[in-house]
Order: sequence, then C-alpha cells, then structure tokens
Amino acid sequence: MRSTNPGFVPDSPLHRELSAPWLEFFEKFPRAELHCHLLGTISRETFMDLVRESEAPVTEEEVNEFFTRGEKPVGVLRIFRALEEHILKKPEMLRRITVEHMASAREHGVRYIEFFWNWTGLKRHFSYEAGQRAIIEGLREGEARYGIVGRLIPSIDREASPEDALELVNEMLAHPADETIGLGIDYRETNHEPENFWKAFLLARAAGLHITLHAGEFGEHWRNVETAMDLLGAERIDHGYTITDNPALMRHARDENVIFAVVPTNSYYLRTFTDEEWAIRHPIRAMKRAGLRIFPNSDDPTMHHVNNAESWRIMFEFLGFSLEEIREMLVNSIDAAWVDEETKIRWSTEWLDEFDRLAAELPKLD
Ligand SMILES: [Zn+2]
Repeated sequence: MRSTNPGFVPDSPLHRELSAPWLEFFEKFPRAELHCHLLGTISRETFMDLVRESEAPVTEEEVNEFFTRGEKPVGVLRIFRALEEHILKKPEMLRRITVEHMASAREHGVRYIEFFWNWTGLKRHFSYEAGQRAIIEGLREGEARYGIVGRLIPSIDREASPEDALELVNEMLAHPADETIGLGIDYRETNHEPENFWKAFLLARAAGLHITLHAGEFGEHWRNVETAMDLLGAERIDHGYTITDNPALMRHARDENVIFAVVPTNSYYLRTFTDEEWAIRHPIRAMKRAGLRIFPNSDDPTMHHVNNAESWRIMFEFLGFSLEEIREMLVNSIDAAWVDEETKIRWSTEWLDEFDRLAAELPKLD
C-alpha cells in the first residue's frame, strides 16, 4: 500500500515511501493536539446541515469551494467569517461540532485536545456564557463517549478591537469554568500587532489563565514572536516561523523553554514556496535545527484536509525528521499541554512507552 499525500503537501526530495504498518503507527501512538480551531474542524456534511438549519445565504457550491484545498491554498479565514456571520446562530451548533471532532480526533490517536474558539464574531447571536456552556457539554459528551479529554482556549479576534478583546476576557472572568484554561489570539496577524491587546493579556494572566499567541505566521515580523514571549507572557507560541530570521531570539526562546505548536500544512508556505522549495526551506526545519522545541498540529483539520495523525506523519514522511525527533516532539507536546504535573508524568510514562512499543514493531524502511 502506498501512502497517500495528506494535506496536499508537495512531494519533496525528502519524501519517504511508507508502508501500511508505518501509516498505522502514526494513527496509533497517543498524543495531544494543542493547536486546533473549533470552526476548522467542521465536516462538509455538518457544514451543509448547519447552512440549512440556519437558512444561511450560502450555496452548496460555496461550501464545496470552502473545502477545496487546491495546489496553492488560500487561507481559511473567510470561511470562519461566513460561519460567524450567517451560520452559527445557535450555541447547540457548537456542541455538535465539538462532539464530532472529539470522535474524529480520538480515531486518529489524540487523547487530549485543547480547542481554540472565538466568541467575538458570534456575539451577535448568543452570549459568551451560552457558547461556553454548549461547547463544554460537547467536551463532556466527547469524553464520556470516546475517552478523549478536551479543554478550551477562548481566543482574541485580532481583526476586532482591543476593547472587544477586553470584553472577551471580562466574560471569561465573569463565567469561569474548569474547562477554560487559557487565552489565545488568532485571525489575520498582518496589521494587527499583538501589543495592541496587552490589556486583555495582562488581565487574563493576572487571573491565572495560561497564555498562547499566534505569532510569526503569514511571514509577519519576528518582533511579534518576541512581543508574545516577553511582553504578553506567552508560555507557548502557535506557528512562530519567522523567529528563524533572528538567531538571538531563537536562543532566547530556547533558554526560556518556550514550545512552538507548529502546523506543517500552514497555507502561507504552501502558497509562497515552490513545490521544490517547500520541504527544504520550511522554517519548521530551521526551528528544529536551532534547537527550538516544536511539535506538529492540525490547526484547521477539515479545511486543511489533514487529521492529527497526518500532521505528525508529514513531519516524518515529507519534512525529513527522524523517528527519534518525532519522539522528542511527543515529549514537547506533553510538556506544552496545560495540565497538572501529575498528568504530565503519567503521560510521559504511558504515552512514551506506547510509542516505543509500537516503534519497535515497525518494519525497516526501504
Ligand atoms: Zn491556528
């Protein structure tokens, strides 16, 4: 059996042909997904159901186009805007999406998942409290039915105002929940600098919430990664690729033990590199070479046409990382998870033992 090409990444000079036991290995070893946007997990079928249910002015052709990844993929943010504006009118819809993705993620090896969700674009339809309640119902149902644990990271919509961000954090503080463990920021980084949102991050940190930021994506300046780490208190970074433009900052990130939740199917590099360059010049490789702690994630799995297992497999199959390096990434993902120390110690034993046991059974590569 030939391996399929997940996420439509270009064939690369580093490509290894993987046999069935190798494909199965990447589906099986237990792991955490820490960079995944709730709205980026909707299946095409559910998307169509929700369009019908909300009587949204979105045609079937448009939905099909949303799910077309193409060779030079455009970003997915416009799809999220359609969802926020016209489709996700009821909190119950968020519950459904959550449960469905927990089932799917568990099937691909994920045992623990932290979901980003944005309330700012949905507040025209329902309150923060109602949205959070619906997703938590989904998390509890997902855990009970599929044995996967889920947590929430409300995320700042950086295309909205800093005051909207502050409103979000105030809602988080007014309606605390055990499942809501941190604050993130996403949407378009270009012209929406992280420091604009300092008040929201300061307030969240003071309340004991964890902090992560999307930074250094879309080729934006490494300064955004520095701001995230040094000014806003990010414990981990989503993407972070342009840090490779600044060796001193990479050393600093290493010293500070900041972990990077990277995404091998990120649209920006698929779009801007040629197929020949993509694997070789991908900053993920330079990050690892510089000793940064990274691990792969699916980001927007249904829209990137990738599941979590495939995002790990791409690192090995297309980007040239060794099995030993994949194991290091698994350690990184455990350390980066926002769970208590006891859980981390347990995962470090159970998950790594399982990884080693499965790896020992693998046939030699051709
Ligand atoms: Zn993301």
